[in-house]
Amino acid sequence: MTTEANILTAIRQAETIAIVSHKSPDGDSIGSSLAMYHLLKKWGKNVTVVHPDPAPEFLHWLEGQETIVDWEKQPEKAAELLHAAELVICLDFNEPGRVGNDMKPALESAPGRKIMIDHHLHPADFCEYVISRPEICSTAQLIYEWLEAAGELASLDEQIGNCIYLGMMTDTGSFRFPSVSPKTHEILAHLLKIGVQHFRIHEQVYDTNTIDRIRLRGFALSEKLVCLPNLPVAYVSLSAEELERFHYQKGDTEGLVNQILGIKGISMAVLFMEKDNKVKISFRSKGNWKVNELASAHFAGGGHMYASGGASDDSLERTIERFVTIVPEYVPSA
Ligand code: 5GP
Ligand code: MN
Repeated sequence: MTTEANILTAIRQAETIAIVSHKSPDGDSIGSSLAMYHLLKKWGKNVTVVHPDPAPEFLHWLEGQETIVDWEKQPEKAAELLHAAELVICLDFNEPGRVGNDMKPALESAPGRKIMIDHHLHPADFCEYVISRPEICSTAQLIYEWLEAAGELASLDEQIGNCIYLGMMTDTGSFRFPSVSPKTHEILAHLLKIGVQHFRIHEQVYDTNTIDRIRLRGFALSEKLVCLPNLPVAYVSLSAEELERFHYQKGDTEGLVNQILGIKGISMAVLFMEKDNKVKISFRSKGNWKVNELASAHFAGGGHMYASGGASDDSLERTIERFVTIVPEYVPSA
C-alpha cells in the first residue's frame, strides 16, 4: 500500500483524532489544519485541532478557527485531547520541538499513532506514516495531493478549498516563489471551480491592516533599515520598546522581511525582533543564498533554503553583531 493509502486507512480506523501544527501559526499551518479538520468532520470523526498558541488576527476569519484549542490558553484541555487521540496528525512541521518546549512532551508522549504531512527538510523520526516533500510549496497543497492520491478528491468542497487556498497562497507569497509548480496552478483552478472566491481570501489576509501596523512597518522601513556596505544583505531590528510604541500585535510584522528582500540588489533580508526576552529572527533569501544553513548553525533555528527562522538569547545589539560577523561566510561561492 502507498503511504497515502495507509494514511487513509489509519484515519478510517480512528474515531478520535487530534490535528497538531507548529508554534507561531501561519497561513499554511492554520489552512492545512482546518482543511484536515473540515474533511475529518465530514467523515464523521471526533476531531480537534490542537495548536501551541493562537493565530494572528488576520487568520481569524477562517471557518473553524474558533474551535482550535491552544496550549497557551488551555494547557490541560490541550493535553487531554492529545492523550485521548487515537491518531495525531502532524501538519506543517518536521520535528516535535517545533510545537514549542511547553507542548513538546505532551506530543511526544501521546499514545496514539502519529502521521506527518509536511514540506520541511530533514523530518525527524517520530511518526508512523510520513509524507515529507520539501519541493512542494505548502502543506496545504500536500493535503490536496494526498486526497487525490488516496482517491478521495470527491470529499473536497468550498469550505475545505478555502483552507487549502489560504495555505498555498501564504506559503508562496501569493503564488510567486520558485516552489510554485504547474500542479499548484492546476489545484488552484480546481479550487476556483468548486466555488473558492480567491479575491476574498486575498482581501482578508492582505487588506485588513490596522493603522498601528502600517505605522510600525513604515517606521521599520524608514528608520530601522540597515544595508550592509559590502554585501547584498539588509536587515531591520525592532526592540521591545519600539514594538510597544506601536502597540504591536501578533502578525503586525508578517511579510516585512519579504519587503526588505524586495529591495533591488538585495539577496538576503533579516528581521530581528526582541520578544519575550529573546530575539526572534526571520531570514529570507534568493539566488544561491542558503539561509537555513546560517539559521541552524548560529541561531538555533532552521527552515527552508529561502525562508528560515531562529532565535538568540543575546541582546538585540549583540545578536546583530554576531550576525554581521558570520554573514560573509554564507556568501555563495558561485
Ligand atoms: P518565519 O520567518 O516566517 O518565522 O519562519 C520562516 C520559516 O523558517 C518557517 O516556515 C519555518 O520553516 C522556519 N523556522 C522559523 N523559526 C524556526 C525555528 O525556531 N526553528 C526552526 N527549525 N525553523 C524555524
Ligand atoms: Mn508551510
